[in-house]
Parts: sequence; structure tokens; C-alpha cells
Amino acid sequence: MLTVTEAREIILTAVQTPPARTLPLANALDCVLAQDVASPVDLPMWDNSAVDGYAVRASDLADANENSPIHLHVTAEVPAGTAPTARVEPQTCARIFTGAPIPEGADAVVMQEDTHPHHEGYIAVTESLEPGENIRRAGDDVTKDEVVLRAGTLLGPSQLGMAAAVSMTQLVVHPRPRVGVLVTGAEIVEPGQRLRAGQIYDSNSYALGGFVKQAGCEPVELGIADDTREDLNEKIDYGLSECDAVITVGGVSVGEYDLVKDVLVELGCDQKFWKIAMRPGKPFVFGTRAEKLVFGLPGNPVSAAVTFLILVRPALLKMRGLAELDLPSVSAEAAADFVNNGDRLHYMRANLYREAEKWLVRPMPRQGSHVISSIANANCLVEVPEATTIPRGHLVKAFRLSGNE
Ligand code: AMP
Ligand code: MG
Repeated sequence: MLTVTEAREIILTAVQTPPARTLPLANALDCVLAQDVASPVDLPMWDNSAVDGYAVRASDLADANENSPIHLHVTAEVPAGTAPTARVEPQTCARIFTGAPIPEGADAVVMQEDTHPHHEGYIAVTESLEPGENIRRAGDDVTKDEVVLRAGTLLGPSQLGMAAAVSMTQLVVHPRPRVGVLVTGAEIVEPGQRLRAGQIYDSNSYALGGFVKQAGCEPVELGIADDTREDLNEKIDYGLSECDAVITVGGVSVGEYDLVKDVLVELGCDQKFWKIAMRPGKPFVFGTRAEKLVFGLPGNPVSAAVTFLILVRPALLKMRGLAELDLPSVSAEAAADFVNNGDRLHYMRANLYREAEKWLVRPMPRQGSHVISSIANANCLVEVPEATTIPRGHLVKAFRLSGNE
């Protein structure tokens, strides 16, 4: 049986980042930038005022103080969004507002708070100031032709703001992969329906759809397939034609109704492996058809979640063009023994918490792969090698379940 490391390696080798596309700025959130963005302008584009006040000639105010204020004639006004028309001559000033262009002749801005109105059309200034004071210089933030966003950058809100500030309306990005989720099983029914004997509610669609979204991809619901070749064939084929990757859940074990593997062969997929030495999640199939990926996850909800996080999520992040593929982790002290008597690497569901300034982590009491409540109430996974006990007090790496980046 393959180790998790080997399986991950095979998967990641098969991943191709889809070709870059040009997207409108507003659609590029969470995409990875595929090309450097150079600024066509200086930022600020021109010298402007950092405060509300008066644009002045600093030399006029060299002797200003509380006891002997200097009086200046207010000869112009420059609101934001206008261009100054008049020059500031000696012994005069221009009323100015934050962000407005500095008029010619002026070399500093005195804050409104350091002035008071004098007689009609005049102000009294009670502070001297240095040339350049309260002026934001052109190019102070960004200079023309400077690269403001590098290829490979994950575009969050601030990065979109940066691009907009230098007048970009679209960006060349690696688009968010479309990922189909198909759950399988004759017993699986939409939540809220009346159940017949032997039927259960579909929890995997909701969990996997959520995980796909948290991995920054676009989930595509492919529905619930019956355990028949025909239904599986049709739905997986549709998923492969519509999506960059397809995740199936259930039907990959050794029973007579576990038909996903056979159907993948019928559909011309190249099966790269089946079965991994991990718990939960031993029956896991991975295949490709051309550049498309198919992940066949086991149906037990905990197995589906864990195999997604350990094996599928890194592939999806690589498809997005990201370099950091691991779940975020925290080093924590085991608050109880982590016991793995089995012969496979065990991903134990656990709870990470802070106590007395340190991180502690405690395994969930029930680790069965059908125990949905154990993963719903856990917040991390701890890897415990085969036939190993990690004793209480030792440090372990806790992989967070919730962090999406
Ligand atoms: P399978 O991998 O198809 O053999 O399924 C293993 C176990 O997971 C069975 O008990 C299934 O009923 C259960 N299961 C499969 N798919 C789902 C699902 N979508 N939601 C909840 N449980 C499921
Ligand atoms: Mg099944």
C-alpha cells in the first residue's frame, strides 16, 4: 500500500495549473496573479495635502508663534477633486483640503488647528513650519513603472485595492478551479426528505462543498448517484466535461456496489493508485483524464473529510497557483496520550486549545470514521504514525481544520 507521502507526490505531479485568464478586477478575489502588475503612474500622482488647512510659503511663517501670530490673506480655495488655478504669492495662502493638489508657490500646508480666523479674508497662524510639512509627495507610495503586485501573489481585498489605485480594470490570473462534487450511494437522500428503511441523509455534499469553497475553488454540485454503472458513468462524465476536477464520494471500497473505480476505467481515466496506508481513508482512488483530475473518496463522512484535507486540498491549491499547500499548523503539547495501535498512519481528530499561555491538544474520545460528531466538534488533526503512542506532554503538530489559508 502507498504511504500518504507517496500518494501526495503522485497527485501533485499530476496537477497542472490551468492556463491564466484575464478577469475583471471585481472577479479576481482569491485568485493568484499570473503576471506582474507595473504601475503606469506615480502614486500619489501629484503633490497633495495631508491635512485640512492652508497651503502656504513656509518662509512667510518663520517667526510665527502663539504670542505673535502671522496674518496671511486667503486668496484661493482648493477642494479635493479640483485643480488649483492661482499661485500662492508671499503673505497669502490657499484654503486646502486633504488630498487636494498643492498650488504653485506653496511649499507647505499649515493645519487648520494651528490657525484661527482673523479679520475678513485673513487667518492668523500660530506655528512655524518646515518646507514640505503636511505635503504628500508625488511618487511617495509608488513610482511609475514600479511592480506593485508580483506574479504568484494571492489577491485579497487589499491587493485588489492596490490594482484599482493604479487604474487596472482587469488582471491576468489563475482562475479559481471548478470542482465537481458527486456523492454516491443508493441509500443517500437529501436532508429534509422522508426516509425509507435503510436510507440516510447526505452529509458529504455539504461538508465537501464547504471544504472546496474554503480551498478557494468553485464547487459544482453533481448530485447524488445511484450505485449503478449507468448513473455513475453519466454523472462523472458530465463532471469531467464541466469541471477542472471531480470529487466522488463513496463506492470506492471492495463491495459489489463499489463501482466508481470500474466506471472511471470505462470513462477513459488513467487510475494512478487505489488504497493508501492511512486511517481513516484507506480506499481512495486517484485518476486523471487528460488534464482533469478525479478523486474517489471513501463515503464515511470522517474519511471523506480527512482524505480531502490531506490529499485533495493540496492539489486544488496547486491548481490555483499557490505554493503553500499544507494545512496551517500549530505546535502543541499532547494533553493526553495519542495511541495508534494500527498499521496505518492515523489522522486523529483532536481539540486544540490555549491554557496558561500554551497550546494544548487532546484527541477526541471516539475516532471511528463514521463518527460525524467527532469531526464536527474537533478543530484539528494530529498525525500519529503506525504502531506508535505519542505520550502526554510531548509536542505534536496540530493541523487546523478550519483555516482556509
Ligand atoms: P461507501 O464508501 O460507499 O462504502 O460508504 C461508506 C459509508 O459512508 C456508508 O455507511 C455510507 O452509507 C456512508 N456514506 C456514503 N456517502 C455518504 C454521504 N453522502 N453522506 C453520509 N454518509 C455517507
Ligand atoms: Mg456506497
